[in-house]
Amino acid sequence: MAELISRRLTSQKTLLQQELDHSTTLFDAEELYAKAVKKNSAIGIATVYRFLRECVDAGKLHSYSCDRKTIYSTSKNNHSHFRCEKCASVHHIDIKKLDFLPVNLRNMVCHVQIDITGICISCQAKNK
Ligand SMILES: [Zn+2]
Ligand SMILES: [Zn+2]
Ligand SMILES: [Zn+2]
Repeated sequence: MAELISRRLTSQKTLLQQELDHSTTLFDAEELYAKAVKKNSAIGIATVYRFLRECVDAGKLHSYSCDRKTIYSTSKNNHSHFRCEKCASVHHIDIKKLDFLPVNLRNMVCHVQIDITGICISCQAKNK
């Protein structure tokens, strides 16, 4: 019985791994779950969360916090936001060059997340 359950979990993990191998964008647990459940209806969201945590711990995935959600990427990347202090809208910013980081950083950088806050263009327009 226990063996049967563990075999079933292994095949669910294989399926999740295949989904990760095909992912090219940032995703959250619900998005991965939605894709996986189409191929195996037995899969549960708890399994997805556990799988994602294991991948992050193993350094295979990188996690970022995005608008109070945790999102994941298979590549070492940067994930940066501009958040409006007035309307709380969140805009993603793609920072290509990270050479403004201190060069004497002795820790090994894994990924970068920068959060910038301010007043967005539409809120600025409303105040005029
Ligand atoms: Zn990372
Ligand atoms: Zn984000
Ligand atoms: Zn705004």
